[in-house]
Amino acid sequence: MRRLDGKIIVVTGAASGIGRGIAHVFAAEGGHVHVTDVDGDGAERVAGEITSNWGQATPFTVDVSRGQDVQALFRAVESAHGRADVIVNNAGLNVRADFRHLADAEWERIREVNLDGVVRIARDGFGLLKAAGSGSLINIASIMGHRGMRQLAAYSASKGAVAALTRALAVEYAPFGIRVNALAPGFIETALTERVLRNPMVNRALLDRTPMRRFGTSEEVAKAALFFASDDSAFVTGAELAVDGGMSASL
Ligand code: NAD
Repeated sequence: MRRLDGKIIVVTGAASGIGRGIAHVFAAEGGHVHVTDVDGDGAERVAGEITSNWGQATPFTVDVSRGQDVQALFRAVESAHGRADVIVNNAGLNVRADFRHLADAEWERIREVNLDGVVRIARDGFGLLKAAGSGSLINIASIMGHRGMRQLAAYSASKGAVAALTRALAVEYAPFGIRVNALAPGFIETALTERVLRNPMVNRALLDRTPMRRFGTSEEVAKAALFFASDDSAFVTGAELAVDGGMSASL
């Protein structure tokens, strides 16, 4: 018996990196994964990887910063399945900028994807999670929601808000049988971190601050997400789990 057999899953930003890892692991555990991303070709590619290796996947082009995309996604899931057992709010981006020079447009872009997108998915997906009877909403926050790093203040603010929203929604959604938890990854090797990790000085400094002395993989984050998605975490809500090789625990 696989841990997500028969579960209906929605993952945002699933065309690459952590979202792709989550889509793979959840499908391998028996879930039917709706692979959604603003990059529609990428979503189709990942759905193809799943159907040729594990089982069921449906690709969708969804920009989480566009209300009509999110509503169309949930309408389609509702008419096909009538419920969503697990929704993963993973889509996110970063714009590096010295805060004192941060342009309004840069801040708005970070906010409308990393925070407004999460708000929209959590709000508009409520009915489908409730219909599941034991829905699980998983938000991908970040260690940066609790720590500062040069040129990442706007990103930190968006992720800190996601962590706060996770706790508040855990309280509000619990009476409807919906659990809401967050993951706080440290430095994971994906397209998002490629440039910063390619800088030898920054790479070294980050490794020095990571007790496990390596960066994480998307699959390792996905395995932690699997805990929140499955009944293994049946009494866990409002939690934020660091997946960071000990970085946030270290002085
Ligand atoms: P990534 O760039 O590899 O993947 C992000 C995906 O989100 C891409 O496929 C992209 O097309 C998609 N996306 C971007 N804007 C979107 C939008 N408006 N609507 C829908 N999809 C959109 O990055 P990643 O590292 O896999 O990041 C995934 C999540 O994990 C993000 O929320 C990120 O902030 C978070 N995170 C990453 C790290 C890390 O070290 N990589 C650490 C902490 C948190």
